[in-house]
Amino acid sequence: MKLVAPDYYEQFKCIADKCRHSCCIGWEIDIDADTLDYYNSIGGEFGERLKANIAADGETAHFCLKEDERCPLLNEKGLCDIIINLGTEALCQICDDHPRYRNFYSDREEIGVGMSCEAAAVLILSQQKKTQLVTLFDADEVLWDEESEFLKIRQKLWDLLQNRKKTVDSRTEDVLAYCGITERKKTPQQWVQIYRRLERLDNVWDTVLDSIENAENALLELKEDVLQTAFEQLLHYFTYRHLADSLDDGRFAARVQFAVQSYRMIKWAAALHFNRYGSIDIETLAEIARIYSAEIEYSTDNIDALLDIFEE
Ligand code: SF4
Repeated sequence: MKLVAPDYYEQFKCIADKCRHSCCIGWEIDIDADTLDYYNSIGGEFGERLKANIAADGETAHFCLKEDERCPLLNEKGLCDIIINLGTEALCQICDDHPRYRNFYSDREEIGVGMSCEAAAVLILSQQKKTQLVTLFDADEVLWDEESEFLKIRQKLWDLLQNRKKTVDSRTEDVLAYCGITERKKTPQQWVQIYRRLERLDNVWDTVLDSIENAENALLELKEDVLQTAFEQLLHYFTYRHLADSLDDGRFAARVQFAVQSYRMIKWAAALHFNRYGSIDIETLAEIARIYSAEIEYSTDNIDALLDIFEE
């Protein structure tokens, strides 16, 4: 099966103890059966500690988070004690894989790194060249007709999104028009009300929503030449990651709108920062995108609720 990825993919590196929003905090991590068997075979003091911190009574075994929601194997230096004691190859599937995501076709796999990881967000948004897909593992690819057609249409969308002769706003209009989508326009404040109804992970997202809701509209406008390359990368990411699922659920138009609306929410928050402080750097934009990603795109319930709205 052919394996492809965005051209920046292989540059990803976890920043471990330097990470301010570690994925080892706040997420209950399931442990796959093979790794659980392996952990159960580990003896000695570390083996006892490992087993004592795994709950295996439910359907799927998982690490028991501590009261402060930290993984019990994350030490005070922000490093993973499983890696220190047993090596990276001892990680369970989820820990080994995160922040990667995958989309599967009949004879093709697409992989990438998710924006909820701060290192991935900075990597994605700081790319200067137009992002392209590269082949990581080559093989003859025999796809279903609808998959081949989907890839052609998606490439057409990327040609429009990466047209640097236009602003990103007008590129998104081109994409919507190409897809035959007529939007029911809503104000930023109306969008905030919609996002408020979604499942919540972290209160910091409320702070972002509050600031958009309470801002004068002029403060949500961003100068046309600010962050254009980063927003192009953001839209490439959302369309690469989320459009492929339309092959299963048929919600292509709604998913295109989800990508565009995600860009707009992040842009409004970025515009507020820019208009207040006179500048914005990639790290700040990446932090806004990270919060959005963790809250919205890592919750299938939240994505589905938004897709329903686009289909009303
Ligand atoms: S969120 Fe990303 S950078 Fe931070 S610990 Fe997890 S994989 Fe590493």
